Amino acid sequence: MFQQNKTATDVLRKDDLIVITGAGGFIAGALTRYFHDQGFTRIRAIDRKPLPEWYQRVDGVESLCMDLSEYSNCVRAVEGAAEVYNLAADMGGMGFIETHRVECLRSILINTHMIEASYRAGVQRYFFSSSACAYNTLLQQDPNVTALKESDAYPAMAERGYGWEKLMSEMFCQEYWAERGLETHIARFHNIYGPFGTWFGGREKAPAAICRKVIEAKDTGNLEIEIWGDGNQTRSFCYIDDCLVGIDMIMHCDQLIATPINLGSSELVSINQLVSLAEEIGGVKLARRYDPNAPKGVAGRNSDNTFIRSVLNWEPNTPLRVGLEKTYRWIEEQYQRRKAGKQVVHD
Ligand code: NAD
Repeated sequence: MFQQNKTATDVLRKDDLIVITGAGGFIAGALTRYFHDQGFTRIRAIDRKPLPEWYQRVDGVESLCMDLSEYSNCVRAVEGAAEVYNLAADMGGMGFIETHRVECLRSILINTHMIEASYRAGVQRYFFSSSACAYNTLLQQDPNVTALKESDAYPAMAERGYGWEKLMSEMFCQEYWAERGLETHIARFHNIYGPFGTWFGGREKAPAAICRKVIEAKDTGNLEIEIWGDGNQTRSFCYIDDCLVGIDMIMHCDQLIATPINLGSSELVSINQLVSLAEEIGGVKLARRYDPNAPKGVAGRNSDNTFIRSVLNWEPNTPLRVGLEKTYRWIEEQYQRRKAGKQVVHD
């Protein structure tokens, strides 16, 4: 029998201070709302973006604009915190991480300073958002992938730039626990998507980009879609609500201290299938134009959920069709707002 999984509500007082970094962005913005909706009264949300550019602003949350690659800002950020969720990073979809390796690598400064400041401030728990890009790329050369299990990160051959930064930061988390006793928790996210995610501008990921292209094609009448690579690359996509619940359970699981764990869906699809799904939702059929020279990442990647099922008796389970429909509708609304000259998420 599994014990009931613990969450923040079980271990924190409602007025304990929760610090969330990267909160002007997609996942940490949603996490801020998640904890706020659970009745936590002291949440400090931080991002380097100016406040008007945050994807979500939550009433009653202390929202600070600070660059967390500076140590002194990290010290201020974690002052009085019970728990720290570090999700700040310079990141984007394949189009961004394959061409901005320096920016991705420099995110190491954020975790290095945040974890040291958290240790010195005596926080109870520290969460780090790692990525499937930390896995050995040599295991991801075939679209018919064997799903990646946690031990597949070593021997290491991570995605250049972004993946190596994640792997090194994971090691920081593990050694701060082993040598200094700071309780750390590490989740390897696999392609998180949903409303309030980046949907245009160059940092968006495949689900949002494809929804936007379908919406655009319908709107303009140019019934064509450009697909990066040959469309046979495979991936799994995890809906944001599953990600939030997963973060909460992973952070409060005693068996998962300093132990990286997959947080992703195991529903594998090709990019071509993802396009078909978006077309179905949009009620349109488009001519496909393939760009073999566009960034396409590894050939195939899926999340092996054996470990998370064994520890939490749970895994992300929102069907892609359901999550993509919600994402599509949200992007459609944003698209129409932008067209009407109204403010949209990401202005
Ligand atoms: P996002 O880009 O929407 O959010 C990241 C936020 O961090 C941004 O708002 C950015 O302004 C902020 N940031 C960057 N540098 C900063 C700095 N120096 N100081 C303060 N803030 C800074 O990305 P996201 O999708 O919400 O990702 C959140 C975390 O999850 C990141 O660590 C990312 O690497 C990780 N992750 C995400 C995915 C995914 O599919 N979205 C997959 C794997 C890992």
